[in-house]
Amino acid sequence: MIIGKSKRELEKMRAAGQLVGRVMQELRRIIEPGVTTLEVDQLAERMIRDAGGVPTFKGYHGFPFSICASVNEQVVHGFPSTRKLRDGDIFSIDCGVTLDGFVGDTAITVPVGRVREEWLALIRVAEECLEGAIEQCREGRRLGDIGWAVQSHAESKGYGVVREYVGHGIGRKMHEDPQLPNYGTPGKGEKIRNGYVFAVEPMINLGTHATKVLPDKWTVVTLDGQPSVHVEHTVAVTGNSRLSRATKSPQSLSKCLSSCWSNARSGVAPAPCAAKSTTSISNRPLQTMFATCTRRRSLFTALMILPGK
Ligand code: MG
Ligand code: MG
Repeated sequence: MIIGKSKRELEKMRAAGQLVGRVMQELRRIIEPGVTTLEVDQLAERMIRDAGGVPTFKGYHGFPFSICASVNEQVVHGFPSTRKLRDGDIFSIDCGVTLDGFVGDTAITVPVGRVREEWLALIRVAEECLEGAIEQCREGRRLGDIGWAVQSHAESKGYGVVREYVGHGIGRKMHEDPQLPNYGTPGKGEKIRNGYVFAVEPMINLGTHATKVLPDKWTVVTLDGQPSVHVEHTVAVTGNSRLSRATKSPQSLSKCLSSCWSNARSGVAPAPCAAKSTTSISNRPLQTMFATCTRRRSLFTALMILPGK
């Protein structure tokens, strides 16, 4: 059963999301060749606890760390370790925070040093898949629309869409109903309603969609050894007019995203987008963005508020 959230609960989820967004922003900042994935994990845990939160992953079904650290062909659920990141790697960080009883869950994939263009394109397309999926998180759409948005875009580029691991509802627990596969049929599945909160998380492979689990029983890798990208936001579907009124000048999300994107690419600290409360992002859009761009209705994520219909 999908648990709808009240406005009050959504505000708490927003706070959890803001915290994990800030953590991710900082983690992204320290990524460079020579940094170990364990150092990244330790920074995440320290930041989360210092802010009064709890690293949701730690102890979850026995998972021993605060982040999942997945490098190159590792898809998800990798263990942080003393492995040093190397020039040319891509590094996926997945992190969850529990704050005041609610969970925010987000993932980014970060290029380390100089990364080959083919891999950068994979990251870009995965982020576009996430953006497209979030666009479908609106009242009246159906769950299949979300998966289709990911699948259709990724497959149009020839990439593989991971089947075995999926997005999910989120709230007091990290994993709530529904499951949100990154594939689907448009117009099918349950209708989306205000108050639903989803963790949308495309996992896109350069090659085959097939995966396997390593003997540590956690780390998922691509079957063909080609790289994989994982990106995630927590998104709330709301009709929150109060949030809407915070918007100075309504603009489309894509406009907002592209302005933040270009700021990010040019290394300019992102100015608040016309919509009032965009917080900073580092060198990539979407990942730590907090936008309030809406007309009649908004979505918020951990990190984001989106336009209505
Ligand atoms: Mg996650
Ligand atoms: Mg998740």
